[in-house]
Amino acid sequence: MPDLFAEKLRKCAKIVLEEFDGDLRPIAKWPFPKAKKALQKFPGIGGPGAEKILVFCGAYPVLAMESNGLRVLLRLGFAKEQKNYSATYHLVQKAAGEGAGTDCAELAQTHMLLRRHGQELCKRSEPDCGKCPLANDCEFCRRENG
Ligand code: SF4
Repeated sequence: MPDLFAEKLRKCAKIVLEEFDGDLRPIAKWPFPKAKKALQKFPGIGGPGAEKILVFCGAYPVLAMESNGLRVLLRLGFAKEQKNYSATYHLVQKAAGEGAGTDCAELAQTHMLLRRHGQELCKRSEPDCGKCPLANDCEFCRRENG
């Protein structure tokens, strides 16, 4: 069986060497769209993943979300779900991002807390609204429970 992880690592190393002269650090100083696009050259890194890298390394203050965090903010009512993931992501990011601050460390923590909330309470099926401290302000909860 081929070692897919090792293969992926080799591919990443090749990209770093051939497209970035062996050094990714300058990316953190590039304009945000260019930096994001550069990171998306790596296998498995999409727009949200690239944003996560940039905020976690302190380069750009952006509210990056993975699927759990996005679901939490959608249910709370920050935006309506759109036909595609990307459109939904950008609407939620625009609505919630304005109040999320500009401190990269805090935004990274927000990412982790939203993820944890989505994994532990606001699960995809059967969210545990009875235990949720956000229930009083949650659009989904009001709708589901009258
Ligand atoms: S009240 Fe329910 S739906 Fe709303 S955020 Fe909490 S767990 Fe999710």
